[in-house]
Amino acid sequence: MSEFSIIQQYFNRPCQETDLGIGDDAALISVPQGYQLAISTDMLVSGTHFFPDTAANHIGWKAMAVNISDMAAMGAEAKWATLSIALPEANPAWLNQFSAGLFECAEQFGVSVIGGDTTRGPLNISLQIMGVIPRDQALTRHGAQLGDEIWHSGYLGHAAQALKYLQSNQSCPANLLSALHRPQPRIQLGIALRTIAHSAIDISDGLLADLGHILEASALGAEIAWPNIAHQLKAPTEDNYAMVLSGGDDYELCFTAPPSAHEQIVAIGQTLGLPLSCIGHTCQPSGIRVLDAQQQAITLQGKGYDHFKN
Ligand code: ADP
Ligand code: MG
Repeated sequence: MSEFSIIQQYFNRPCQETDLGIGDDAALISVPQGYQLAISTDMLVSGTHFFPDTAANHIGWKAMAVNISDMAAMGAEAKWATLSIALPEANPAWLNQFSAGLFECAEQFGVSVIGGDTTRGPLNISLQIMGVIPRDQALTRHGAQLGDEIWHSGYLGHAAQALKYLQSNQSCPANLLSALHRPQPRIQLGIALRTIAHSAIDISDGLLADLGHILEASALGAEIAWPNIAHQLKAPTEDNYAMVLSGGDDYELCFTAPPSAHEQIVAIGQTLGLPLSCIGHTCQPSGIRVLDAQQQAITLQGKGYDHFKN
């Protein structure tokens, strides 16, 4: 199979809102007047981000979903993506499944694949995602204010639980597996929060690590109530704390907003059918304090996943 026929057969699909798509040396897009272009990129490396034997369909979905999640965190609408992929071989069955998962996610969120690069090498998938956001409405990490309430969407720690099952070769409950393999980018939530939240981030490396980025950028600290976090792990063990607070791959949003927006945010959760949990507030000094039901501080060894830490 030639490089050209791989692109043609698996990655060239009709594009929307695109002036020129796949086939030229560059794609052309127009950003609507009054909007800013939001751009982000995320790479998935075999053996680091997924087990080499993961179903290709899941890999395709996840590669797209984690990129769209970055758009959600900014309050942007995802529109276009480019796909750079290194493949060890041209395996039609694998490519078929991979592209099916990739485009299923892309279509669900209105994203067109407008270009990319295809080469031979150890399996590595890098996507660049582009989206649009009304000028000056982007949610950022540096906007949190003193006294903001801190929220997260969905449930935390499900993907980390799934990973634990897989690593110990146990069969894993379906809802946990789907959290790991088919994360749902919170695009509608990001859009709804544009004029409400002061700051936002998507949780990819664990709540403490990612909330930590907001706090650092905003020069604040936080107090978090463990009982308010939405999760399935009731037992107060170190392991459970770690999965919920610093397990990776949640792809939920964490955001801060003024207490005056509390009811509005509750209503957004109801409209979207998405649990939104108010888990604490920003404060001084810096650092995150997590308190259990007895108001005792929970301490953890590692704070989140870091590719360059042992
Ligand atoms: P060039 O050699 O000029 O970089 P390529 O032969 O690499 O062009 O790519 C030809 C066309 O196919 C380009 O429009 C490129 O964006 C697109 N393309 C290449 N690989 C992919 C891919 N994996 N997914 C989507 N489009 C791709
Ligand atoms: Mg090229």
